[in-house]
Amino acid sequence: MSLTLVKQCPNCRTGLESEYNYCPACGQTTHLHRFNLHHIFHEVFHALTHADKGVIHLVKELTIRPGVVAREYILEGKRKKYFNPFTFLVLIVGLTIFVNSIVHPYTRSSDPVGQAAGREYRTEQERQQKLKVAERIRTSQQFLEKRGNVIIFLAIPIVTLTFWLLFFRSGVNYAEHLVAQVFFTGYYSLITSLVFTPLRPLFPNANAFAGTQILFQLVYITFAYYQFLPPNRPKSVFRVALATLAALMTWAVVSFAAMYLYIRFG
Ligand SMILES: [Zn+2]
Repeated sequence: MSLTLVKQCPNCRTGLESEYNYCPACGQTTHLHRFNLHHIFHEVFHALTHADKGVIHLVKELTIRPGVVAREYILEGKRKKYFNPFTFLVLIVGLTIFVNSIVHPYTRSSDPVGQAAGREYRTEQERQQKLKVAERIRTSQQFLEKRGNVIIFLAIPIVTLTFWLLFFRSGVNYAEHLVAQVFFTGYYSLITSLVFTPLRPLFPNANAFAGTQILFQLVYITFAYYQFLPPNRPKSVFRVALATLAALMTWAVVSFAAMYLYIRFG
């Protein structure tokens, strides 16, 4: 039986045989059709709901067994089983910016400039100084709301560095830790946007609320990392919790420094 090359793959120009469903070189389907609205709707719906590798499946799995998702995807090579973590993160960052633009979690609940202007001061100089500080606080709140993407993208490599150094002997390299952080940060940011941010204006005690948020982050990332690290290496939940705490503290120090630089020179 001789196979005849019937056409070329439009994507990579490899010759295709008539019975091929996919291009053997690049994997593109050979059953192409022109775009139409039905097809686009189907693709979007499919990307969201596909039982194996859609976004909804990924969110569900990241809720139940985040570390197993990361371990299978990163360390065990199950790349087709899950939705791409980087695409997931970009979607979530978009959602974060969108929710912030509606809810205004930081600027709505407090008005530092108005408060500072309403107070009595002993000297005009003191008044000017306090107003300047208040303006800077306002600027940083606006920065938090509008530039959530910058914050998330900066946090990941820094948090990754802490885990990589503290679990150096696990054999997991920096890039592998980074992909794990992309999964976990994506999930954490999703919960922040859908649960914490909309609820924030309803709670009068901002510090207690922020504390709850940090506690959730600590518990989730500890749980996720404990599952993620290779099971054949010695590990303890306590050590993972300490590492998570160290990572969050490193991030807090760096973000305060970044915020300071932004207020000062931004
Ligand atoms: Zn091809």
